[in-house]
Amino acid sequence: MAKLVQRYLDRIREEHVGDTGGALADYIPELACVDPDGFGMSLSSADGFIYESGDAALEFTIQSISKPFTYALALDRLGASAVDAKIGVEPSGEAFNEISVDRATKKPKNPMINAGAIAAVSLIPAAGPDERFALIQDFYSSFAGRRLELDDQVYASEKATGSRNRAIGYMLQSFGMLDDDPDEVLDVYYRQCSLRVTSTDLAKMGATLARGGVNPQTGRRVSTPDVVKRTLSVMVTCGMYDAAGDWVSAVGMPAKSGVGGGIVAVLPGQLGIGVYSPLLDDKGNSVRGVQVCRSLSEQLGLHFLTVARDSRATLRAVYEPREGIRVYETHGDLLFCGAEQVVRVADRERDDFEVAILDVSRVDDIDDAARALLSGMSAALRAQGKAGYLVDPDGVVIRSEKELEAVRFRTVADAVEEAQGWLEQNRPVSPR
Ligand code: GLU
Repeated sequence: MAKLVQRYLDRIREEHVGDTGGALADYIPELACVDPDGFGMSLSSADGFIYESGDAALEFTIQSISKPFTYALALDRLGASAVDAKIGVEPSGEAFNEISVDRATKKPKNPMINAGAIAAVSLIPAAGPDERFALIQDFYSSFAGRRLELDDQVYASEKATGSRNRAIGYMLQSFGMLDDDPDEVLDVYYRQCSLRVTSTDLAKMGATLARGGVNPQTGRRVSTPDVVKRTLSVMVTCGMYDAAGDWVSAVGMPAKSGVGGGIVAVLPGQLGIGVYSPLLDDKGNSVRGVQVCRSLSEQLGLHFLTVARDSRATLRAVYEPREGIRVYETHGDLLFCGAEQVVRVADRERDDFEVAILDVSRVDDIDDAARALLSGMSAALRAQGKAGYLVDPDGVVIRSEKELEAVRFRTVADAVEEAQGWLEQNRPVSPR
């Protein structure tokens, strides 16, 4: 069966193998030495299954795809407000290496342009540049699920020709946005950009973001959902250099590209994509990389703003096992809107029952908003002189012992029995 998906990927790669437009980046001399024909693509499902096509094992330097990951590390170590004090989140509309900051705040406009990325490096708490780089290297490696190594030649080449980045570093220092020595910070920045990855590494790193910070292959939590949410947000608005608008319209996935020819794209909750082809368009994005992501999005329906269908009903069934007792059976993932639907229906029907039983035994996942709404249902019913019970064998709604009142049951039959007793006590004459 996996062959079916493989065929899709191979066909999409085949469609674009003839797109030989674009040029190698040459402002970092070593980048102009790579084979222009290299072309690999990889996809990781959210549960860690990897599909590969073409040169998926070919290594190249991560370059700017490093930026969201260092930003995530800074958020992880310092929290959002400390990071926000030094780096904005607005698209710049300028080239990635523009020597600029926001006019009013003097902050780099976002962490996906060089100014913001260099500031992000300086925020990683460490005793010195080597320790800082080691933290960055470990962090990226935990996303990729293997140790990522430095490309010494690209690092040396970038360091030798990095006048523009030095200008940015010193500018940031003059505005009070860089506390450490700019050359030391830049040295770490050049090293992070020179880490070697494959398209499969990028797919795995993307899938880890797609899973809210859990690497699906190693099972390790390497970041938190909040950090990932912020990182993906900035990737949406600023990840594709100044082509972010085109990208969101045509592809619709948070993404980041690098002048090494790589692109990582993420479909939250579902998958990570990595593409490599070093021929770049005039914005600095891989020509084939953009085309492949566009085709994948169109052909596999991956645009994150696709409104595929009306949201599926959360209520699977509503029935009355005995007179006066009504069971609300829910299923799927319960988020705010689903829980709201359950509460609203039960409220509308409240004159038709004395005891409501909410059965969440088929719910896969629930978020805090839905949990709060549903756990308030019993109390609301009690306030109306009725009773509300919960069938929650796996504790999806009620988690802590503190929350655990006598209202939770393992099976609907147990809850119905209890409800029957309640009816006999509270409605001795007529249950209705
Ligand atoms: N190391 C590169 C630079 O700073 C990264 C640029 C990129 O990939 O956009 O110029």
